[in-house]
Amino acid sequence: MGREHLIKPVLDHPYPTIQYGKGVFLYDEQGKAYLDASSGAVTAGIGHGVQDIIDAMMEQASKVSFVYRSQFTSEPAEKLAKKLSDLAPGGDYWAFFVNSGSEATETAMKIAIQHWQEKGRLGKNKVISRRMSYHGITMGALSMSGHVLRRRRFIPLLEDFPVVAPAYCYRCPFKMNAASCKLACADDLETAIKRIGAEHIAAFIAEPVVGAAGGAIVPPAGYFKKIKEICERYEILFIADEVMTGIARTGEMFGMQHEGVEPDLIALGKGLSAGYTPMAATLVKDHVMAPILQGSKSIMAGHTYSANPQSAAISLAVLDYALKHQLAQSARSMGAYLLAKLRQIADGIEIIGDVRGRGLLLALEFVQDRDYKTMFPPVEGITSRIIDKAFQKGLLVYPAAGAVDGAGDAIIVAPPLVITEAEVDQLVQLLEEAIREVADELTRESEG
Ligand code: PMP
Repeated sequence: MGREHLIKPVLDHPYPTIQYGKGVFLYDEQGKAYLDASSGAVTAGIGHGVQDIIDAMMEQASKVSFVYRSQFTSEPAEKLAKKLSDLAPGGDYWAFFVNSGSEATETAMKIAIQHWQEKGRLGKNKVISRRMSYHGITMGALSMSGHVLRRRRFIPLLEDFPVVAPAYCYRCPFKMNAASCKLACADDLETAIKRIGAEHIAAFIAEPVVGAAGGAIVPPAGYFKKIKEICERYEILFIADEVMTGIARTGEMFGMQHEGVEPDLIALGKGLSAGYTPMAATLVKDHVMAPILQGSKSIMAGHTYSANPQSAAISLAVLDYALKHQLAQSARSMGAYLLAKLRQIADGIEIIGDVRGRGLLLALEFVQDRDYKTMFPPVEGITSRIIDKAFQKGLLVYPAAGAVDGAGDAIIVAPPLVITEAEVDQLVQLLEEAIREVADELTRESEG
């Protein structure tokens, strides 16, 4: 083979070439099938190769694919903005379209800062995030991310934004238990605000369910209500990063709907286009836009491809599909079925320390000792060993942080929301085999 040209995630790793996808399966050029139990990067929410989306794509392409947003608007972009506002918690949102989740969170940050500037509050320009969080790979998004591994190389270039405790009950940062903790993790936000001064803080950002930085970590009941109440009391905007949770993934169209909280800004990505095109959005509540409408009347953000009609038409078709096929309902019922099955296999495999998640955003956390919740040393690379083993068997699962910043080794199981019971059974069987084989190897290694 000649020299390579495409930069892949791991440069010396041999990646199979995928030929096509259908439903929850991908097929490589050797004809091997992969059950996509991670929806790629928790993206392909409606499954692969859906004809309705291909039709919508062709139809829009036959009209016009691109117009520049400084010159024209388009019907698909207008319709998509309205539909998202209708679906989002409490309604009354504006939409700003971008191309990736990172841009969506970074744009949310910029709009939050601009909101305060328009009100003459020039000092409010820090964003608080949480340890064990991931909001994206661009510099602004990374500045707000508590993901040690992804930040490490760029630390000198990042804003030194404050971070507060994660709402991680399995390993409570305050060594409390959920029944009696009175939400100390939410209070940690108030402590930070008092230390830094609300006059310096524009926004607080959090994922409704933590994804890549911890593995489907669901907060304790009431956490986000308390967070929102603290944000309002100190005049701090609340940004919900719904890039992974948005569009039915957790069993509601938006993850925040489980919490009964209306965020001031929402970042969407991944499931919004379900992988059919690069598309993401920042939703902004009316009251956040109000001073901008009265002031400079323009948002200082955006990209060449923002709000292009092709991506908007595709995302609109994805939303229609999700609503027509009641995929939020499927995420709830199939999520409950899959969670119960994962709990069953966990009973018999000692290295599974925790099984958790919401809807079809689920995760398993691995431990050396279940009683003490001892993490594996990072050098053991447990997360990647399990992922590789599953991959060999034709099962795709997604890595969470993996013992890098207070999080243990974990994998995310998040198949397309169209998965059937029979496909869940197949998924669980393959996953159980993969985990058992790694667990057996570990036993042999420790004995040898
Ligand atoms: N926020 C969250 C919660 C995410 O999970 C991700 C992607 N894993 C991002 C932001 C960044 O999205 P993208 O990779 O599309 O830039």
